[in-house]
Amino acid sequence: MEGSEILLEELSNALGPSGFENSVREIVKREMLAIGCNIEIDGLGSVVGRTPGTDDGPKIMLAAHMDEVGLLVKYVTDQGYVKFETLGGWLDQAIINQRWVIMTKGGPIVGITGIKTPHVMNAEARGKVFAKADMFIDVGARDRQDVIDNYGIVPGDPIAPQSMFSKLNASGMYLGKAWDDRAGVWVMLEALKRLVNVRSLNLYGVATVQEEVGLRGAGTSGTMVSPQIAINIESGVAGDYPGITQDEAQEKVGNGPGLFLHDSSMLPNLKLRDFVVETAEELDIPLQFNVLSGYGQDGAAIQKTGTGVPVVNITVPTRYLHSHNSVVSGSDLDGAVRLITGMVQELNENKVQEIIGF
Ligand SMILES: [Zn+2]
Repeated sequence: MEGSEILLEELSNALGPSGFENSVREIVKREMLAIGCNIEIDGLGSVVGRTPGTDDGPKIMLAAHMDEVGLLVKYVTDQGYVKFETLGGWLDQAIINQRWVIMTKGGPIVGITGIKTPHVMNAEARGKVFAKADMFIDVGARDRQDVIDNYGIVPGDPIAPQSMFSKLNASGMYLGKAWDDRAGVWVMLEALKRLVNVRSLNLYGVATVQEEVGLRGAGTSGTMVSPQIAINIESGVAGDYPGITQDEAQEKVGNGPGLFLHDSSMLPNLKLRDFVVETAEELDIPLQFNVLSGYGQDGAAIQKTGTGVPVVNITVPTRYLHSHNSVVSGSDLDGAVRLITGMVQELNENKVQEIIGF
């Protein structure tokens, strides 16, 4: 991979459920400051980094969200088990029997969503999916008082999946949690690094918060930046493994970055869509398309800021989203960086006027 693998690992491992993105925010700030960006934070915690360019150039916004799906402490039972609420969209069967980190004020507490042993279950019960409402997290406490006295867990504490980054053998793929959307955050930061010395740009890299609970940071940071054009960078939905069909998702891991043509939250600006396709052809970057019926992304909130902004959603195809273990490919990550860098370099005043006009 051309970009920083260490940064990719760090972003995947960082704990940052929606609304509790602090550790990711610190990484993003560090990376932006290192290349000379000017940083502001919006009222919800999104990081808005501006490269040292010119006020005169077209105002372009690159966005990716820092948060990941997680849980939140609801209450502790008398027996000392932690009951939880979900943050973002989870399948019940992806929650059970996994390791978690409860992010308390006093530090991390590891826990497990315990699963009933099959030894005591009849055939019918064994075939059933466990319901989220019946689940709990076991932190090893004796009872509720033990949790209060010795674990420091209080209602409202965020809970993140525990799952460590690794390479997926020699495939050029990476296995880890939170590719949605740390893959996008990585692409945004790597693109900024390549564009930071282009002085003719008025370029903002934005790491948003709370995407998984309703595109909240994209609305506030989009209002703050007020861009002429925005490129949202997301993890795409790969449809290349058994049990998922081309009708459901069209991207394949390793076949290049994706361009969303439809999702339930946004239609892309068509001139901007064409510009993505042209740029990919010129730079010889393989490009995939995706048309999904159930998927929302920050671009939808940015698109509606001000009087309306042309936006596209460019993706890194990802397998097994919203779980402890997802898969992305280094070549797709690099392709997305090259595509976005190439597009931004071509976005002069004339090109921008051509795109935003009707
Ligand atoms: Zn996402």
